[in-house]
Amino acid sequence: MKRILPPADKTPGRMLIFWDIDGTLMSCGGDGTEAMNRAFFELYGIPDAFLGAGVGGAQDFAVIRRIAAECGIEKFDPAALETAYIANLARILDRNEHKRVMPGVVDLLEYARGAGLANLLLTSNLRAGAETKLRSVGLWAYFDESFCGGFGDAPGEKWDAAAAVISAAETRFGRPFRPSDVVVIGDSVYDIRSAKRIGARHIAVATGWTSAETLSAETPEYLFDDLADTPRVIAAIGKNLLKRYER
Ligand SMILES: [Mg+2]
Repeated sequence: MKRILPPADKTPGRMLIFWDIDGTLMSCGGDGTEAMNRAFFELYGIPDAFLGAGVGGAQDFAVIRRIAAECGIEKFDPAALETAYIANLARILDRNEHKRVMPGVVDLLEYARGAGLANLLLTSNLRAGAETKLRSVGLWAYFDESFCGGFGDAPGEKWDAAAAVISAAETRFGRPFRPSDVVVIGDSVYDIRSAKRIGARHIAVATGWTSAETLSAETPEYLFDDLADTPRVIAAIGKNLLKRYER
């Protein structure tokens, strides 16, 4: 296969690529939900609190509080819950032999890093949960700890987190980012809608829980069965990138 060469221009933050985690960068099955269930049981004695909770369609901040309210927990302690959740998540991931990085992801992360495109996360996971999951499959090293994206720790929606990161990127890199400079790559309807909401470009991938048909109905700019075809995905990220880098 033809090697894709890094570009001449390595200016950091030439473009912002927002990566979703679950179903896009990696899969760890229902480990996140299981860890939340165990944390709720340890702290409040409630079993299967997150059964059918619809995780991934809203920020974890909101999902956790909704479940706590539905369970009638009066003295809910988000910090204690997070500590218990992360401890359980790390243990469960450690034992999960089926967790995996999605096809093509490492090549794309490597390419983006070499090309001066900023690899950022855009996930409804809590930041600590995102880090724990990505570390478990060796992907955390592709992200800059001091500037790694938007997470589900705060009130609001995924697009609010994205808008805040774009604004922070403008300060960090000292330049404005037009909508065409920002690409969201994700496996869910929520990802596509979040990208549209902030005017960003979007690439949907059907490696998660959502079918290609359902994703297609949201009219994503691009839809792939998986991200294994590196040149095609690079061309989708930026039309001029491939032309320039295959020379
Ligand atoms: Mg996802």
